[in-house]
Amino acid sequence: MSKKNVAVIPGDGIGPEVINATLEVLEKTAPGQFDFTEVAMGGNAIDKYGEPLPDFSLKTCQNAEATLLGAVGGPKWDNQPPEKRPERGLLGVRKGLEVFANIRPAKIFAPLASACPLRKDIAEKGIDFIIVRELTGGIYFGKHEAFKTENGERAARDVMEYSESEIKRIAHVAFKTAMKRRKIVTSIDKANILTSSRLWREIVEEVAKEYPEVKLNHLYVDNASMQLIRVPSEFDVIVTENTFGDILSDEASQIVGSIGMIPSASVGEGNRGLYEPIHGSAPDIAGQDKANPIGTILAGAMMLRYSFNMNKEADKIENAVDEVLKNGLRTGDIYTEGTKLISGSQMKEEIIKALH
Ligand code: NAD
Repeated sequence: MSKKNVAVIPGDGIGPEVINATLEVLEKTAPGQFDFTEVAMGGNAIDKYGEPLPDFSLKTCQNAEATLLGAVGGPKWDNQPPEKRPERGLLGVRKGLEVFANIRPAKIFAPLASACPLRKDIAEKGIDFIIVRELTGGIYFGKHEAFKTENGERAARDVMEYSESEIKRIAHVAFKTAMKRRKIVTSIDKANILTSSRLWREIVEEVAKEYPEVKLNHLYVDNASMQLIRVPSEFDVIVTENTFGDILSDEASQIVGSIGMIPSASVGEGNRGLYEPIHGSAPDIAGQDKANPIGTILAGAMMLRYSFNMNKEADKIENAVDEVLKNGLRTGDIYTEGTKLISGSQMKEEIIKALH
């Protein structure tokens, strides 16, 4: 059997720590099945090659079946010109891999329910939804312009644009995801104001006809931001455009607790995908063995599920994480009184012990 070819971007700060932990967990879960190739990207690539995403790095990712990413960036590179910032590498790799859908689960692990900032009666109803965010269109990729008005005032504009095919393909990702879950899609837009949102709604409704088993709801984004904290248990799959998704997925990450716990997958056509935790490079704790590796380890599990169809192995990793949390073991970011504080590398060891 040929090995699965995975490009690995450790990145900067805590990136290499959480990535090494994840590679070990993956290797222990499916021994001998992966061929990992390390790729330079981010601040470390700027230091070594003068740019955040050298061509050969992108090529390695494009040739791989999946890419696993830690995190990039840090204060050392904050004063670089925009095209030489580590974060440019992130946009470059997403674009180069043609991943247009970001899938971000928001799930409360029962042992961490007390970390949920919502009222107990709301959290107790259970929170388990997925945000499918369009990733390569909308205002972030539209025309950006700073200009002067006729009377000499400074002005600026950013264009929000979506085409039919861009909306169609993300809607399909959402409906397919819902088919494997509770079969509810909530599409979020601002169709009472924005023309691009009216097109969004129209096309989502057309795509919905191909999935008669799935119930489709629509919400305006301002209302959605309230409902997410009022009745989070009612959501199953949320689909929304790039900017709304950016904001709502950060809101969702707070609802379910620590930023160190949450994975994300970015997928395109076919099985290729980019898998990463949602946190950054956390320079404040880098090199101190304090980083929680769970977000990246769960991103590894998502890779098994979405790129390699290894559902049993993905379950194994997710169950191991659950078991370790149930046993009261915590890194600093999720520590509460009465639990046991352990280091990042101890967390990895415990998860490996719980794989069965
Ligand atoms: P951050 O996510 O790195 O850190 C925010 C806070 O959360 C910090 O206090 C940090 O210690 C803590 N934290 C984050 N991940 C953790 C983990 N796994 N375990 C324990 N604690 C954790 O966000 P920031 O401080 O705004 O950004 C730091 C750098 O990361 C910046 O250069 C930023 O541009 C970059 N960044 C990169 C990505 C990415 O690579 N995808 C995403 C966001 C930010």
